[in-house]
Amino acid sequence: MKYVSTRGNAPELSFADAMLTGLARDGGLYVPAEIPQMSADEIRALQGLSYEETAFRVIKPFVGDCFSDEELMGCITRAYEGFGHNARAPMVQLAPNHFLLELFHGPTLAFKDFAMQMIGQLFQVELTKRGERVTIVGATSGDTGSAAIEAFKGLDAVDVFILYPHGRVSEVQRRQMTTPPESNVHALALEGHFDDCQARLKDMFNHFEFRDGVKLAGVNSINWARVLVQVVYYFSAAASLGAPDRKVSFTVPTGNFGDIFAGYIAKQMGLPIDRLVVATNQNDILHRCLTTGAYEKGEVAPSISPSMDILVSSNFERALFFAYNKDGAAVAQLMDELANGGFSVSQGALQALREDFDSGRVSEEETLAFIKEANATMGELLCPHSAIGAKIGEEHRDPATPMITLATAHPAKFPDAVENASGIRPPLPNRMADLYERSERVTQVPNDLTALETLIQERLAK
Ligand SMILES: *Cc1c(COP(=O)(O)O)cnc(C)c1O
Repeated sequence: MKYVSTRGNAPELSFADAMLTGLARDGGLYVPAEIPQMSADEIRALQGLSYEETAFRVIKPFVGDCFSDEELMGCITRAYEGFGHNARAPMVQLAPNHFLLELFHGPTLAFKDFAMQMIGQLFQVELTKRGERVTIVGATSGDTGSAAIEAFKGLDAVDVFILYPHGRVSEVQRRQMTTPPESNVHALALEGHFDDCQARLKDMFNHFEFRDGVKLAGVNSINWARVLVQVVYYFSAAASLGAPDRKVSFTVPTGNFGDIFAGYIAKQMGLPIDRLVVATNQNDILHRCLTTGAYEKGEVAPSISPSMDILVSSNFERALFFAYNKDGAAVAQLMDELANGGFSVSQGALQALREDFDSGRVSEEETLAFIKEANATMGELLCPHSAIGAKIGEEHRDPATPMITLATAHPAKFPDAVENASGIRPPLPNRMADLYERSERVTQVPNDLTALETLIQERLAK
């Protein structure tokens, strides 16, 4: 199994190399050269299996011979044993023919745990085999950083440094990053905005002496392994509603397009998915693009669903690659135009995108109103991201095809917005009820590259 860049101008890599590399050298994103197929019988055989067994069967064809069956199953088992629900990704019903896929039972209460826990294990196994050690540095507006610290804590082949904007993440998010006691994870509160965190991270990757010296690696949402691991719950959910003998549709609260792109891969593998519905908040570049064909950067307007506040959606490049029939040069040209503000998708490519994707947008007021309504009429207290999904899922469901909306975070991760909307302050699950009592460990850092690099080198030398 080989991986190629969406910009067509980087070396082909194995699964393990693509995972450890992250971004391709031509600036593109890695995708499988061929998408493995699952037959109707193989999909039918998933019905009734455990989440772990389903994960093994879905992931195995993509990893080639990088991991043995025993290694892969070991990673899957360890990745999900800390989840607070035996089904890992259980479903509840919201309305006639509309289901909610709860992806928030992991250690940091958001769907990012599914992929991050798994790549923590895959990194550890692969690096141990190679006798290597890497330094992961990540920038976060909240959810990715907490998921990464939880996933990599205590693993001896990695050190993790997470930059978050000081004073600009929720208290739950901050505590999830600052309370793990393991010495290989480090929360750094940067004096600046999220954009500053991302800019300093990019500077580190462009400073080759530092990059090679500390063996810098990334685990942001463009990492192919993260997308792949998210394909699993599309299969587990569809199989439990009768796939392959019954089609289903999915609505996905979307930011960087990683989660919904995993649904596209599931469909390409043979899972009978009717519609994939992109749900956005007021930062609606994707909804505008799918409606008009124009992909234009706006200004980010901070919302109560912060994990969907994006200027550009990095994984959308992968969808464009397939919509342009794997023409890497065409994608490279679009990305050059994007650097100058935006581009238009060709008619043919827009038509191809619309064959799989629908979209919708929800305003701040509508989000608050829907959290209240869903609690009153569906018996579910939804986080703001999941509420955006469920509202658009309701609008797009039809009587013939079950709609499955992905619930991307637990309401207790965004208690202020949920309380503001519904009057109810969602409590943390019992297994983490003491989060507010645990002691915190964090270093405040200036928005300065040299200071950051020095701090990281000093910590690594200890
Ligand atoms: C990251 C995140 C999203 C957006 O997911 P993408 O893969 O970036 O589209 C939505 N909701 C929550 C709670 C998230 O943490």
